[in-house]
Amino acid sequence: MQQFKMYIDGQWVAAASARTYRVINPATEEEFAEVPLGGPEDVDAAATAARRAFPAWAARPQAERSAIVNRMAALLRERGDALTEWEIRDHGTPIKMARMQQFFASMNLEYCAQAGRALMGANLPAGPTGMFCIRREPVGVCALIIPWNSPLLMITSKMGACLATGNTCVIKPSAIDSLVTLKFAELITELDLPPGVVNVVTGPGGTVGEALATHPEVNFISFTGSSETGKAIMAAASGTLKRTQMELGGKNPFIVLPDADIDKIIPMAVGSTCHNTGMVCASPGRYYIHEKIHDEFVEKFVAAIKKVVVGDPNDERTDMGPVVSAEHRDRVEGYIKSGIEQGATLLLGGQRPTAPPLDRGYYILPAVFTGVKPPMKIFYEEIFGPVACFVRFSDDEEVVASANDNAYGLCASVWTRDLARGLRIVGRINAGAVGVNSARFVSPETPWGGFKDSGFGKENSTYGLEEYTQLKLLTVEYS
Ligand code: NAD
Repeated sequence: MQQFKMYIDGQWVAAASARTYRVINPATEEEFAEVPLGGPEDVDAAATAARRAFPAWAARPQAERSAIVNRMAALLRERGDALTEWEIRDHGTPIKMARMQQFFASMNLEYCAQAGRALMGANLPAGPTGMFCIRREPVGVCALIIPWNSPLLMITSKMGACLATGNTCVIKPSAIDSLVTLKFAELITELDLPPGVVNVVTGPGGTVGEALATHPEVNFISFTGSSETGKAIMAAASGTLKRTQMELGGKNPFIVLPDADIDKIIPMAVGSTCHNTGMVCASPGRYYIHEKIHDEFVEKFVAAIKKVVVGDPNDERTDMGPVVSAEHRDRVEGYIKSGIEQGATLLLGGQRPTAPPLDRGYYILPAVFTGVKPPMKIFYEEIFGPVACFVRFSDDEEVVASANDNAYGLCASVWTRDLARGLRIVGRINAGAVGVNSARFVSPETPWGGFKDSGFGKENSTYGLEEYTQLKLLTVEYS
């Protein structure tokens, strides 16, 4: 059993309590590693170290900070393979997807390093002998609290922005899969990072996360996770008036109009349902298909999803691995059960595979429901699993109203050859990112973040970097 430690103030340490917990491989159900069970004392040590390191790091010239973030990206490109094994064992990520994530994670860091250098303040004249100077300053100590679904992408976009803009951080990975974060921290200790600039504390959200949300030395919380947890963090953080940024859940409409090129869309739609076993916040949560093409679309979708290779994440042929934990499998299965009970039609999948070797591991076969409508739970709630929910519609007004009939507002797309009609529809959808014939929403250069219960604040792009800064006005009179 491999033993891991946390990274606090430049040292690899056990939890103050000396307690640990075991990590399970979701593809085999085997326990294979032990991780420190952090608590409030460890958070205090990490936040205090981050506070101590902050003034010197903030004072480093921008070019130096950016160079360090760039070298992190280079390390990831050169030696990222060392992380693949852990991504597979800890999260069940198929190997081809794990490699792709490393590539995008390096791009996140490169972008932050470059954009950090371009983020400037502004100078305005204040009469003939005066000047207003609007400066951007770092916010201080940042808690970066991430979920389990794509740890490396989350850490790199948050940490890249945090460090490039002169802040220090305490990273809290999900207790379900902390190992990639710890391995990434190991990689970056090779750089010239002063102790305390980056800290990682492992352990459950209820203790480590809560301690970060209430710690007086933490100035800003960048959180990605469920809306429920986001609300709890905001409540906890209000006592010390922390700034927060919330990247939360989604139940994203994917609207197909009758003139759409069905054969072109199907592979992408199937890929989106199964990518990361459906554990993606931007995944289509509701497929709205116009009644004229509904049956043809569903038939082709079912034929295509049957070809998705569900299997061992180490196998190059695997498209879809297990879900991340037994608890999450129960949750997804609960939604499948509720869909059946509330009258939706399960056309395919939703069961656990029974033939070896997939009879072990938290596998679920991709599921397809038709006849999904209010007030079904699977119409309204985020499933976060490989479950496609089809909704039939007949006109644009109806689909806009139905798409907006949801607590979430993360992203939405419309598929049509009629660009003007597509634009009219997405323009009325209340979501942070919308697309016509495109669902390419997440890239280092573009702002990502939802409306309503999907959160607020932006990740990625210069808008994302700005979240980690505060504006200061300096006024000078030199008459
Ligand atoms: P989660 O909310 O259960 O946990 C997220 C993180 O918060 C974990 O590190 C967890 O330990 C911590 N946490 C839990 N309780 C806490 C508390 N009381 N105080 C502080 N921290 C606490 O989410 P999850 O199950 O890990 O991830 C799935 C969710 O994340 C989904 O809802 C998904 O949509 C969302 N997500 C959103 C985005 C986005 O960009 N909008 C991206 C990925 C995932």
